Amino acid sequence: YRAFNTTKVRTTCPHCGTGCQLDLIVNQNNVIVGAEPANGPANRNLLCVKGKFASYKFVASPDRIDTPLIKRNGKFEKATWEEAMDLVASKFTELKETYGGTSLAGFSCSRSTNEDNFVFQKMVRTAFASNNVDNCARLCHSASVHGLAHTLGSGAMTNTIEDITTDVDAILLIGSNTTEAHPVIGVQIRQAVQHGAKLIVVDPRQIDLTKHAALTIQPKAGTNVAFINGLMHVIIKEGLEDQDFINKRTENYEAMKKVVADYTPEVVGKICEIDPEAIVAAARMYAKADKAPIIYCLGVTEHSTGTEGVMSMSNLAMLVGKVGRPGCGVNPLRGQNNVQGACDMGCSPFDFPGYQKVANPEVVAKFENAWGTELNPRIGLTSTQVLPAAIKKQIHGLYIFGEDPIVTDPNTAHVRQALESLDFLVVQELFMTETAAYADVILPGISFAEKDGTFTNTERRIQRIRKAVEPTPGAREDFKIFCEVATRMGYPMSYEASSKIMDEIASLVPTFGGVNFKRLENPNGLQWPCRDLDDPGTPIMHVGTFTRGKGLFMALPYKPAQELPDEEYPFLMSTGRMLYQYNTGAMTRRTEGINKLAGRSYIEINIEDANRYGIQDGDKVQVSSRRGTIETYAHVGNIVLPEAVFMTFHFADGNVNELTNSVFDDIARIPEYKVCAVKIKPL
Ligand code: SF4
Repeated sequence: YRAFNTTKVRTTCPHCGTGCQLDLIVNQNNVIVGAEPANGPANRNLLCVKGKFASYKFVASPDRIDTPLIKRNGKFEKATWEEAMDLVASKFTELKETYGGTSLAGFSCSRSTNEDNFVFQKMVRTAFASNNVDNCARLCHSASVHGLAHTLGSGAMTNTIEDITTDVDAILLIGSNTTEAHPVIGVQIRQAVQHGAKLIVVDPRQIDLTKHAALTIQPKAGTNVAFINGLMHVIIKEGLEDQDFINKRTENYEAMKKVVADYTPEVVGKICEIDPEAIVAAARMYAKADKAPIIYCLGVTEHSTGTEGVMSMSNLAMLVGKVGRPGCGVNPLRGQNNVQGACDMGCSPFDFPGYQKVANPEVVAKFENAWGTELNPRIGLTSTQVLPAAIKKQIHGLYIFGEDPIVTDPNTAHVRQALESLDFLVVQELFMTETAAYADVILPGISFAEKDGTFTNTERRIQRIRKAVEPTPGAREDFKIFCEVATRMGYPMSYEASSKIMDEIASLVPTFGGVNFKRLENPNGLQWPCRDLDDPGTPIMHVGTFTRGKGLFMALPYKPAQELPDEEYPFLMSTGRMLYQYNTGAMTRRTEGINKLAGRSYIEINIEDANRYGIQDGDKVQVSSRRGTIETYAHVGNIVLPEAVFMTFHFADGNVNELTNSVFDDIARIPEYKVCAVKIKPL
């Protein structure tokens, strides 16, 4: 493509939460023809296969929806924007007047910009008069948001990617298949090992990074709380705790200590099905290292005890004084490009933007004053509560912006029933997704490469995205669609440009007080908290004091997962991401080369089990749980342990979520994707 007259536009990768900077190469015909790595603070000139090859082809895909669609007599018909907007606004207004604002809900898009997310939740809270607004963090890291906020005061990664992968003595990696889910961070972890860091990998599967580990531990999925209690038991027994830090900076230590006294390596070894000596070795390696971050991902959060798992991470780091200083901390790797931002922007039933609490009347009054309207003062429903509420006819209208719950949510039969129970469903999308097929109206939005705005990556870094090409004709800028819906419903709203939305965010969110588009021209972006125009941002949180004042130890006894294998369903199944595809595949499945490499659903099964069942690598198999049955292909090997299986969640055909269990964590309402029981039949 270099032979042609092209321009480069610096932007942020639209896939995982690493936030890699890249240049889109645009030709004279307004088509993106390539992507090149840029020297961003998180990626340092690296890009993974998704950033390099799958970050742009979907933008000009012939599958893009290019006109509003209205379903009539069960079939989608093309409509004008005027017709579609009229129907959307009048139907939501009718439902609001008939059943009240709390009968309406909105799921926002963790892949879209901060600005779109801010305006979306504002539309739901003002025009709908409802706090039933959520984003897909509910399904991945809501446990981090709740667990870290409760124990440390802020629900975000404490340190920076660079800080936890350079000049560290050890890394405790728990429940993160970093090479596949956050590939550029995976490379940086490998580089840290080359520079002498000891890597401790704790994962039920033999993931790629185990090749570089000083110590690999494969606990049974769903036993994280017991495992961390075991590490803390050893640390306390051997006097490796940081008593000075505990005394000065934390509270509730004795209650936590009392609980972990029971978690001897022998007890924990039985629960986790691992060698007790490995627990002792890991505890010593982590505690004795001077600089040692905890890095974790969905292997910790996606459990019915997900919030407790996250709070266990805080317990462990505080026990050895490894928070609030370089090369340490508690570091959740957020999944989607802007899932951090969607949470920051208040796409949550509990929080206005900036985690300002709906439950606090002063906060409600502040936003009522700023937005000039009365707001609903009651906490709303999470997305995982909205779906069952639809079945019970408590939710009547739903607006889904850029999410695909038919593929992403657990127990697909239940999701289908929920969507079919709605009186009115609007889906705003780039493509005809599995969920869009259930809509009454589909509104075509635009992609990251067609708009200006910001994404916030996993390390709280707000970075610019820039319009590289003109939007698909017929589609409209997302925040403008929300403004029009709100205006037609009686709450006038308009913004000239996304920079003006950020100005409003800065005026309402103290931790964004110093953020504006001019400052974001700096290639390093800004890391919140960034409270005023003189504030350079905050690379490391909780230095000197925790955001909540004192760090809070939690006493957390282990509780088993809610569905374990039995005679009928003898395999313990976990789910996760693979390198080549991204979440539902709505974007990555448009890149042919990616599909050739990894284009179909599969199940990993241990060679011993495969031999017992007469299954060969590549064979088609039937997999069933108590929720449903699918067909997929066997990957036979040693990545999973005997009696465990693993599937990725990227495919509508062979969709693992037909099988997963719709049981939830009591606090964050996150689903237990990581543990359910299945049986396998060769076909
Ligand atoms: Fe994009 Fe994540 Fe790959 Fe970076 S690591 S290029 S952000 S998918």
